[in-house]
Amino acid sequence: MKIRSIETFRITLPFRFSFGHSLASRSESTNLLVKVTLSNGIVGYGEGIPRDYVTGESIDSAETNVLTTYAPLFLSANINSPSELISLLESGFDELGLHSKPFGASWCALELALMDAYCKEWRLTPADLLGGVRTEKIRYGGVVPFGGKKALGAILWFYKIYGFKTIKLKVGKDLETDLEKLKICRSIMGEDATIRVDANCAWTLDSALQACEAFKPYRVASYEQPLPADDWDGLQKLTASVEADIMVDESLCTIAQAQELAASKVCSAFNIRISKAGGLLPAARILAIAKNAGLRVQMGAQVGETGILTAAGRFFGCLNEPFDNYEGAANFFLLKQDLTVEDLTARPGGFGDLRFSRRKYGLGITVKDSRLLSFTEAGAAAGGDCREHVAAS
Ligand SMILES: [Mg+2]
Repeated sequence: MKIRSIETFRITLPFRFSFGHSLASRSESTNLLVKVTLSNGIVGYGEGIPRDYVTGESIDSAETNVLTTYAPLFLSANINSPSELISLLESGFDELGLHSKPFGASWCALELALMDAYCKEWRLTPADLLGGVRTEKIRYGGVVPFGGKKALGAILWFYKIYGFKTIKLKVGKDLETDLEKLKICRSIMGEDATIRVDANCAWTLDSALQACEAFKPYRVASYEQPLPADDWDGLQKLTASVEADIMVDESLCTIAQAQELAASKVCSAFNIRISKAGGLLPAARILAIAKNAGLRVQMGAQVGETGILTAAGRFFGCLNEPFDNYEGAANFFLLKQDLTVEDLTARPGGFGDLRFSRRKYGLGITVKDSRLLSFTEAGAAAGGDCREHVAAS
């Protein structure tokens, strides 16, 4: 089965509220969507979220990569079995040197679209393609962005009543404010809750050591990206001297980085996000590196994922042994409108499973075409045809 076309869409999704951390604040997200149409008309969708402060990708560069660099590898191929698709995805990824180039978001969008389309054609799901379900349901944690005390209290009470058992606070503004937030968090969420923090590169080694000491009474389970992404020396020292997990996120964008981070004991945990890693296959390779090195793992998410990336994350979570924490599935909470018919928002208690994909093939989601067009940034700006198009030769 050949591919008729690969199209890209830039969609801008407004949030219900502004989401901020130490590197950025946003009230909307511009995501890259890829639509693959097979020669028999079957369509598959994929999504990636380029962030220049994570993978260095912009929406422009990600779209260009998909259309001019990646698409030609697939447009001429005739793919007739799952093993052919996986081997083409793996060989393409390696040929382009993506194991050491952080172009995750763009590759992810294409990988997911190809998997979605071909799985529909073969009447399979990613679970059939990637080795079967290992965890029946996963339990997401809630993430609290920067904000005032009033907003913090309101969000935490909502999370508590909704049943989340893990909370991650964005920290790194100043120690006093962070301590106050932690105190409020522990008092609202109770002694049994797991509290994690994410500094998004905000600290130096000294200020991180100071924060870790000051945060001790609140029993923080993990410190995510406490130092700048390239300060591996500092991260290594912090990992050696702090009992809680030191989790890398912005430092970990490629498979090569995963190998080096694990080998030199720079951290004790990985935050693996599908979009950042380059899709389900590279994310699985990074997970295997973590497991072999005895590192802890969190399944992370980008802020502003639609049902497409949430579905991919749900499969990733359920196809592997349990992670220490899961993030994402904030769809209804964060997005004014989602792109998919299916609502994959974490259910009360934070739970998510694969029921949404029952009796369906591919990623198990249905994209609302009318909404896709209304979200497409270029279309809105130009008032005309918003799609860039690559046709099979
Ligand atoms: Mg993070």
